[in-house]
Amino acid sequence: MQTELGTISALVGEEEKDSTPLNKKLNRLTKNLIYVTLGLALAFLVVGWLTGKEIYELIQTSIAWTIAAIPEGLPIVASIALARGMLRLAKKNVIVKKLEAVETLGETTVIFTDKTGTLTKNQLTATTLVFPTDTRLEIDWLDSGEVKVSGVEKPRENTNFHHLFKVAVLANDAQLTEEAGQGGNESAQENQKPPAPAEDPDEKPQAGAGEGDPLELALLHFSKKVDSSQFERLRQLKRELHDPFDSEAMVMGAVYKEGETHYVAGKGAAHAFLDRSAKILVDGEVKALSEEEKSQWSDRNDQLAEEGLRVLAFGYKELDQLPKGKQADDFLQDMIFIGLIGFIDPPRMEVATAMDTCAEAGIRVVMVTGDHPGTARNVGEKVNLIDEEADREGLAMSGKHLDAKLEEADSDQLTAVRIFSRVDPSQKLNLIKYFQDKGEIVGMTGDGINDAPALKKANIGIAMGQRGTQVAQEVSDMVLKDDAFGSIVKAIEQGRVIFGNIRKFIMYQLSYHLSEILIIALVSFSLFSLPLLPLQLLFLNILSDVFPALALGVGEGNADVMKVPPKDPREPLLTRKNWMQIVVYALVLTACISGAYFFAHFVWEQPEEISNNVAFFSLAFAQLLHVFNMREGKENVFFNQVTRNKYIWMALGLCLSLLALAYFTPKVNEILSFQQMEGRIWALIVGTSFLPLIIIQVIKQIKKNL
Ligand code: ADP
Ligand code: MG
Repeated sequence: MQTELGTISALVGEEEKDSTPLNKKLNRLTKNLIYVTLGLALAFLVVGWLTGKEIYELIQTSIAWTIAAIPEGLPIVASIALARGMLRLAKKNVIVKKLEAVETLGETTVIFTDKTGTLTKNQLTATTLVFPTDTRLEIDWLDSGEVKVSGVEKPRENTNFHHLFKVAVLANDAQLTEEAGQGGNESAQENQKPPAPAEDPDEKPQAGAGEGDPLELALLHFSKKVDSSQFERLRQLKRELHDPFDSEAMVMGAVYKEGETHYVAGKGAAHAFLDRSAKILVDGEVKALSEEEKSQWSDRNDQLAEEGLRVLAFGYKELDQLPKGKQADDFLQDMIFIGLIGFIDPPRMEVATAMDTCAEAGIRVVMVTGDHPGTARNVGEKVNLIDEEADREGLAMSGKHLDAKLEEADSDQLTAVRIFSRVDPSQKLNLIKYFQDKGEIVGMTGDGINDAPALKKANIGIAMGQRGTQVAQEVSDMVLKDDAFGSIVKAIEQGRVIFGNIRKFIMYQLSYHLSEILIIALVSFSLFSLPLLPLQLLFLNILSDVFPALALGVGEGNADVMKVPPKDPREPLLTRKNWMQIVVYALVLTACISGAYFFAHFVWEQPEEISNNVAFFSLAFAQLLHVFNMREGKENVFFNQVTRNKYIWMALGLCLSLLALAYFTPKVNEILSFQQMEGRIWALIVGTSFLPLIIIQVIKQIKKNL
C-alpha cells in the first residue's frame, strides 16, 4: 500500500458510485404492488366472510386477485431487455460490463472525453522539427516511401539531428511489426501490450504499424525510414535503466550502454522537459540553457501546438557512470535539450456528427486532456466541439487554473468550459466530483492506470479497449473496443432506447393487470361470481406478460430519442403521467370487458361459464391488441415503433396459437374451463377485444401526449 499502485488502489477503493440503479426501482415497484394486492385480497376475504359468503369462493377470488396483480414476467423481461441491449451494443464495439450501466447511460448529461485516440485517430505522423539553429524544418514523406527533411542535407553531420535520431529510437517503448520476429530489442519486449486488432485481417500490416504508443511508433517509423542501418544498430543496444511515461510527470526516458558511456535519452511534453534541462545543443556545442531561452522554447512549442500539432521535446546526456540509488529513480535531470518534434494526429471523421447529435440530445461534451492547450483547442475546433468564433478564453481552461476554480465553491464558470488542457488524472477526479455535486451525470473516458479512480467515480466510466490499460478496463462500466467517441454516443442512444422500452412494457403489464383487478372487483362485488378464474388468469398472464412484453422490451426505439434532453435521474421509473396513462388504459379495458360480461349475463342471459369465457377471451385478445397502444403519442397510428417491431407480430402470432392450442386440446380446455360457444358469442368477443384499442387510439389522437 506504500507504493504508487497501492495509492491508486486505495483511491479506487474509496470512490464509490452513488446512483439508484434500475434494479432498486424495479424492486420497490414490485414490492409496493404485492402489498397493495395482499391488502385488497385480505379486505375482500374479510368483507365476504362477514357477509356470510362461502369460504371456498372467497379464497378462490382472493387467489385470482393476487395472480391478477402480480406482473409475473416483469423481472425476467427486464433482465432480458437489458441483456439484449448489451448484446446490441457489443456488436457496435461497446462492451457494457454492468447491466445497470445501460440505464445510467441514458441519463448522462456530460461526457468528459480525452483527446488522443478518442477524438483523433491516434495515427501520428512526425511532420515538423525545430532545432536551435534552424528554426523550423518540415519533414516530407515522399510517395516513393522515403523521407526527406528539408534543410538537413547530410543528417549524419548535423549533431542535433544525430542526437534527435538516437533519442527517438532509444527513448521508446514501442515495437514495429516489421521488427517482430527479429528478436527485437529488449526494451520493446518488456513493454508488451496486446496487439491492436487489425482492421482487416487480409490487409498486410501498414508501414509504421506495431505495438505500443502510436506516438512512439511514429518515431520508430520515421527513424527507420531515415537511416535503417543506424536504426538497427541502436535497437541492439542494451538498456540499463528505464523510466516509463506517466501522465503526471509527462516525461519518459531510458539509459543505454553505448561503448564505455551510458547514454541517457529522454523525451516529454515541452514544459516538463524544459524544466529538466540545464543545457542546450547548438551547432555541435553544448551550451547553458538560460531561463530566457527556456521561455522562447516554450513559445515555439505553443506556436506548433496552436497549429494542432502534438509536440514532444527531446534531450540527452552522456554519463561515465550509471546512476545509482536515488539518482537511478530520477535520472532525467540536467538534460541537454535538442529540439522539438511536431506530429499531426488527424481528427476522427465521425466525431463532428456525433458532437452535433450530443448537442441535440442535451449532452455536454467536454475535452479533458493532458496535452497542450493549443493542440487541444485546434482539435476541438476541427471536431465541432467549440466554435472558432466562440470566446476562446471562456471555453478553454488549463489545468493550472483548475485547482483554484474548484476551490471556489460557487464558481459556475467551470460548467461552461468545453476544454480542459494540461489536466492530470487527480484533477480529473476533482472535476467529476465538482460536476456531480452540481447534479450532473458524468461519463468519463480514460485509459491509464492513474485514471482508475476517476473512471470508478464517474457515473459511467468508459475505458478504451485498444489503448486502455487492464486496470482502467477493470474498474470501468463500459469498454469501447474501437476507442471511438462515436461509440459513446451510440451507447447513450441505446441506453435511452432501452429505458424507454422498459418503461413501455412495465406500463403495458401494469395497465392490464390493473384492469384484471378491476374487472374481478366489479363483477364479484356486484354479482358475487368470478369473471376470471385463477388458472385462466395465470395462463393469460404468462402468455402476455412474457411474449408481447418481451417484444416491447427489445424494440429498436424511436429515431427521436436523441432529440430530447436526458432523463432526470431523480425521475421515478413511472412518472405521474405514466401512472395516469396506466389508469386510463385500465379503465377502458375494464369498462369494455366487464361490459361484455354483463351483456352476456343480463341481456343474452348466458350461464356463468359462458359469461366467464366471454370475459376471458375478450380480455385475452384485447390484452394482446393492447401492445399497439404502447406507441408514443406523437407517432403515427399505423406506422410506429410498435408496428415496425417484428417481434411484436411474432409474439402475437405465438400467443394466439397457444390460446387456440389450449382451446382445442382436450383436458387442457377442461382445466381452463373453456366452453363450446355459438357464433354470436364469438362475434361479441371479437368486437369487445377491438373496442379498447379503438377507444384508446382515439383518446391518444385527441390528447397527443397520452
Ligand atoms: P492526452 O492523452 O490527453 O493527450 P497524455 O497525458 O497522454 O495526454 O500526454 C500529455 C503530454 O505528455 C503530451 O502532450 C505529450 O507532450 C507528452 N507525452 C505523451 N506521450 C508521451 C510519450 N510516450 N513520451 C513522452 N512524452 C509523451
Ligand atoms: Mg494519452
